[in-house]
Amino acid sequence: MRYCSTRGGAHGLEFRDVLFSGYALDGGMFMPEELPTLSSSTLRSWSSLSYSQLVCEVCSMFIPEQQIPRQDLKGLILDALSKFSVPEAVKLARLKGGLSVLELFHGETLAFKDLAMRCTVRFLEYFLHKENRRATILVGTSGDTGGSAISGVRGLSSVDVVVVFPRGRITMVQEKQMTTCLDDNVHVFAADGSSDDIDVPLRQLFAKGDLVRRHGLMSLNSVNWSRIMVQLAHFLYAYLQLSGIGETEGDTLPELEVVVPTGGAGNITAGCIMRLMGVPLRLVAVVNSNDIVYRTVQRGDFSMATSVKQTLAPAIDIQDPYNMERVFWLLSGKDGELVKKLMEQFQKSHKMSLPDTLHKKLCTVLSAGTVSDEGIVEAMRQCWQENQYLVCPHTAVSLWYHYHFPLHSGMNRCCIATASPAKFQDAVQKAGLNIDLPEAVQALATMATRYKNLEKGEDWEAILREFIESVGSVRQRGESFYISVQQ
Ligand SMILES: *Cc1c(COP(=O)(O)O)cnc(C)c1O
Repeated sequence: MRYCSTRGGAHGLEFRDVLFSGYALDGGMFMPEELPTLSSSTLRSWSSLSYSQLVCEVCSMFIPEQQIPRQDLKGLILDALSKFSVPEAVKLARLKGGLSVLELFHGETLAFKDLAMRCTVRFLEYFLHKENRRATILVGTSGDTGGSAISGVRGLSSVDVVVVFPRGRITMVQEKQMTTCLDDNVHVFAADGSSDDIDVPLRQLFAKGDLVRRHGLMSLNSVNWSRIMVQLAHFLYAYLQLSGIGETEGDTLPELEVVVPTGGAGNITAGCIMRLMGVPLRLVAVVNSNDIVYRTVQRGDFSMATSVKQTLAPAIDIQDPYNMERVFWLLSGKDGELVKKLMEQFQKSHKMSLPDTLHKKLCTVLSAGTVSDEGIVEAMRQCWQENQYLVCPHTAVSLWYHYHFPLHSGMNRCCIATASPAKFQDAVQKAGLNIDLPEAVQALATMATRYKNLEKGEDWEAILREFIESVGSVRQRGESFYISVQQ
């Protein structure tokens, strides 16, 4: 199993190299050179495996024994998935009207990102320990990635994490989960801009080969292949639990429709990969009024709007669904040259039209929906009224689809629940509903915080570069950062 860039500029990389990278140096994203396929008999033989066993099966297809021996891999994954508040780390809720919801938010930060993040951080630690070196993680966040990365790495001696979040565009709980973390290896920046604005200086920093090498600079955004890889297991688990595969025989497998609230498109990319690996999924990417993915599926229009709209589902207020590059690459027959041309055009002009053949292919693997704030509130209410079951506004985006598009007969459907409603109290209130906050969430309000601001008009790239350099030199002297550097 080797990896390559979606823009054709890198081949033959090992899992380890890809794990420690952000974007490839040609600006592309890393993908496995070949996707394994899963036969119907393999799928049947897995149908009673637990979630963590499935994560293990999935990861061992993409991480060769020589990189992490299977026994070690199993230990790392079990450890990573041990601190969740439900026994299997994930949970299925079966609600009225044939609605099944896969709850992926039972980790410490109450969002699905904890699952793949925890595993990925264990993989990182494994290699850092073996190689006796450090890494610097640089993360931009639309709200949940930052908290999840911090929760995964706080207190580790081998990594520093630098997180940049869009000030005023995330919820209080999301913000406090980051800023109340006072560990010496955690560094939080609050930027006056959108998460797409933050992505620009981060991309520039990852393109600086020298800085990347000297500080072991790496990404834990879903740019990182390891997160997508772990997320493959969500789809496999949903399929094995809900498709009814157990009641069938032979080569024909039942289909399952999975509805995914979509932002940076990491989750939906994992779904597409699972489908290409032979799991008969029908995938629906549902977005809020930041609807680029919807327009792309409807008419090949991969173009940004003039600005990011702030909605009730802020974790998917994203205009650059960067993981779609991986989907385009797969569906173009791994045509790195074409993807390079298309994506460079998109990065320059913020718009790109999918070639006809690619658009047709996309429509065969993906459908899409777009939901307004009214739709979000309406779905939260309907779900509460029918089931006394409260969902977060992102999960509501997928439920809206369920309530408006009837199931095809004979097929089951799974809506992905990406976060706990406790993280999004404003939306809960707007829907006229109530929530009992968990104690850990209540406690955040009065805890001490630490972060730095990045203001409009400042050179964010330069500020972050200097900061990373200064952390690096403090570590070289073996000192603690917040004691040695007067803040
Ligand atoms: C990150 C996030 C999403 C979007 O996931 P992508 O994989 O980036 O599409 C959806 N919902 C919540 C709550 C999130 O935190």
